[in-house]
Amino acid sequence: MRLSKAYFKTLREVPAEAELKSHILLLRAGMIRKLASGVYGYMPMGLKALKKIENIIRNEMDAEGCQEILMSALQPAELWKESGRWNAYGPEMWRVCDRHDREFCLGPTHEEVFTDIIRNDVDSHRKLPINLYQIQTKYRDEARPRFGLMRSREFIMKDSYSFDKDEEGLDVSYENMYKRYENVFKRMELDVMPVEADTGAMGGNGSHEFIAKADAGESEIAFCPSCKMAATVERAVCGKVKPSSEAELPMNKVHTPGTKTIESVCEYLNKPTDKSIKAIFLKVIPAEGDEQLVAAFLRGDRQLNMIKAVNALGIAEHELVFADESEAADIGSVCGFIGPHGLKPGIKVIVDEELVSLKNLVAGANEEDYHIENLNYGRDYEADIVADIKQLLEGDPCPVCGEKILYTRGIEVGQLFKLGTKYSEPMKAIYKDEDMNERLMYMGSYGIGVSRTLAAVIEQNSDENGIIWPLPVAPYHVIITLINPSDKDQTALAEDIYEKLRKSNIDVILDDRDERPGVKFKDADLIGIPFRINVGRDAADGKVEFKVRGSNYGMDMKKRETVVIDSNEAVKNIISVVSENS
Ligand code: ATP
Ligand code: MG
Repeated sequence: MRLSKAYFKTLREVPAEAELKSHILLLRAGMIRKLASGVYGYMPMGLKALKKIENIIRNEMDAEGCQEILMSALQPAELWKESGRWNAYGPEMWRVCDRHDREFCLGPTHEEVFTDIIRNDVDSHRKLPINLYQIQTKYRDEARPRFGLMRSREFIMKDSYSFDKDEEGLDVSYENMYKRYENVFKRMELDVMPVEADTGAMGGNGSHEFIAKADAGESEIAFCPSCKMAATVERAVCGKVKPSSEAELPMNKVHTPGTKTIESVCEYLNKPTDKSIKAIFLKVIPAEGDEQLVAAFLRGDRQLNMIKAVNALGIAEHELVFADESEAADIGSVCGFIGPHGLKPGIKVIVDEELVSLKNLVAGANEEDYHIENLNYGRDYEADIVADIKQLLEGDPCPVCGEKILYTRGIEVGQLFKLGTKYSEPMKAIYKDEDMNERLMYMGSYGIGVSRTLAAVIEQNSDENGIIWPLPVAPYHVIITLINPSDKDQTALAEDIYEKLRKSNIDVILDDRDERPGVKFKDADLIGIPFRINVGRDAADGKVEFKVRGSNYGMDMKKRETVVIDSNEAVKNIISVVSENS
């Protein structure tokens, strides 16, 4: 590509709305343009990088024997009603009607669509397993679209769906995809960690996320430095506690004026916070049916994990909200003094499993300015649900080995789900086995956020001057900077190098613009092309300046070092390094 003829525009200023490195650089380098909140277009160079990412993914999927198809983004509501997700998905789903008022959505994901294809076309065990994928545009009306491509409302996803005869088959398909995901991110030179994950609205019983390490990432990960346990904070299971051997003391109601928080009541009664019970007052608002008030109780020094609470209640994430203080009277209580003993019937009570093992705790008496001491589970209060609903915190013992848990942050670039029969059952994806018995297919689904991955690569690879593309995903491998386009020797040599590289299928830019060298160098740094050849005053001798932007890919030169070499040597180096690394 000749830059003088190209559609190419970089920005000097940092766009006001962008905070994240990747967002700022993608905009400044002219790789993407915003159309509306959370809606972006890809400009030529951004699109080229995106295609490189897509092709690495495509290549790994094809190598696994998955076949590519392309389904519509527009999906009829009927399919989602069949699976039960039309209501469960909530406000993130982009719902549209046609002129006859028939309902559709712009697909946030495609489990239903792929299940529909397979149930219609596959009826025999002989045709299983099958794994289909697509690289396609998804729509999610995110509550807070932000960070550019990181959390957008329209984005590109690679989604695959496996269909197996049984659970063992699914385990194999899942394992194969997991390995392919490791390859995909390795080939992009993205530093990722696979972690156990919650299955969320997707359902099923096993899931991993691939997290690209980044301080600015939105995903919080709890991990153990000793045994390598790693899970999203939503998912991370807490270790069990040993039952207390304390003798149960008689219940005792105490006057505790003005002590509405755990800290204030524990200070007032001179007790540690781990001898108290914290109440969280919640409400389930289902898509259909009546609202339900919920009181969740956990140890005073713990924090509620909303996702675990959602899972314990068996509802969708958006159906659970915090209740209003004014509603406390409806459960026979008063805010700041809610406790598990003496609540009105009708309220749903969830108790964190840890409380069952603890003795003689203090909690609100459901009466202004009173608490009750020495509460014991079973004797003084019970629950509709006992479950692990607390957050595993940094410093807590690892549930696997007991070592201290650490937290880290990252960007979720991919997720795998074992769906089992979650979709095949309601949607009747059935095959006949060897004995002609009808059986349900076992499904898995596997996503990679392609556009988010583009941003994640930049989060991990940039400096104060701009992007530093890893070679395998760089839009162009090399940029030739023609220092003085009116110099005949320089122009002739730059053209010669350009042609040689193009003929060898190297993605090459010739910066032949009539601009000052400083402007050209700044742009070359900003757009992050891995190798740079400057054709300047040594052109008459056939010599050029050669520079690497980031990794030297095994070449004998340092980062930021400029070496003067013969132009043919520069060409040879690039051809050999590109062929080995992409
Ligand atoms: P998140 O928790 O970040 O909202 P998710 O778990 O809902 O994501 P999945 O349903 O697992 O997302 O989708 C598969 C992949 O698609 C994710 O791993 C992520 O990389 C990407 N993705 C999801 N939502 C977005 C979005 N709003 N913008 C860009 N990429 C996204
Ligand atoms: Mg996910």
